[in-house]
Amino acid sequence: MSRSWVTNVKSKWEHLSVGRKIFLAAYGLVVGWAALIVWAQMLEPAEQAPSRSRAIVGDKSLAGGPINHFIRYRNSYDSFRKSGPNAPAWQRYAAAAPAVLGRPMVAIVIDDMGPDQKNARRAMNMQAPLTLAFLPYANELTPMIARARASGHEVLLHLPMEPENGDVHFPGPNSLKTDLPSGELSRRLKWNLDRFKGYVGINNHMGSLFTADQMAMARVMDELRVRGLLFLDSRTTTTSVGRRVAMQSNVPFGRRDVFLDNDRGATQVLDRLHEVEAIARKSGSAIAIGHPHDQTLDALERWIGDLEGKGFVLAPVSAVIAKNNRTTSSKN
Ligand SMILES: [Zn+2]
Repeated sequence: MSRSWVTNVKSKWEHLSVGRKIFLAAYGLVVGWAALIVWAQMLEPAEQAPSRSRAIVGDKSLAGGPINHFIRYRNSYDSFRKSGPNAPAWQRYAAAAPAVLGRPMVAIVIDDMGPDQKNARRAMNMQAPLTLAFLPYANELTPMIARARASGHEVLLHLPMEPENGDVHFPGPNSLKTDLPSGELSRRLKWNLDRFKGYVGINNHMGSLFTADQMAMARVMDELRVRGLLFLDSRTTTTSVGRRVAMQSNVPFGRRDVFLDNDRGATQVLDRLHEVEAIARKSGSAIAIGHPHDQTLDALERWIGDLEGKGFVLAPVSAVIAKNNRTTSSKN
């Protein structure tokens, strides 16, 4: 049966004119090539927000799930992300950013994560790429960090630094202070930075006195550069030298635009979120910092649901910093 079918086709082919043979061969080639292109497109996902289960690249041990190294996001602000042991930490541990497509970017950072495990879990369960800043003195950090990253969030280390009224507000054990002897400052810095892995950089917890001190901040920046980390200035003082020292030390830098919950009422938080929108619309991006309070998380849950509809894109802080640092360096 199959033999007679083959013979049949063979004899038909032999009876065709040369022109027809060439036409049919070319036709077969075009159809085959088109099929190959369609197949390749199906293997590579289209430009879209990554699903939460595959939002991690980089360190396998911290991801808490299987990693597909073949996934590529065709996103210009995502191209700074790199995997492999030689990539700087801020690129290696960066969470996947959704496709920007020219929209203003908003990064939402939730500070003081860790001590209140219930609200930390609530923040981690939000279906959006947040940036979660964990206090290094909290307990059981490693599983929390792994869970945050596996859920598609980005992680910062929220480094306790000396505030102006240090006798009233205690930043936490092993906090960085301006009057520490050099060796003790190094020891505390190392103690904090070694508490967990998988973070892209630090932002200051309190620190209105420390971040205004040029010498002290230079010590911190030197260590950040060696470790390949970024610095997000929480700007707890207008006299912070964070930006200047970070630029001198060649450390990727970003700064907080809005505090969401200095006043904790739901309306006040929403007002601040509208301010975030206005800044992002005007300058192309905005970085907001809030805390894992119920009112803040309530407001954020509602607001994030409408964000894409308003034409914004929620991004991890590393993506905003990558975009802004690139803009700054291309202007110079
Ligand atoms: Zn804080």
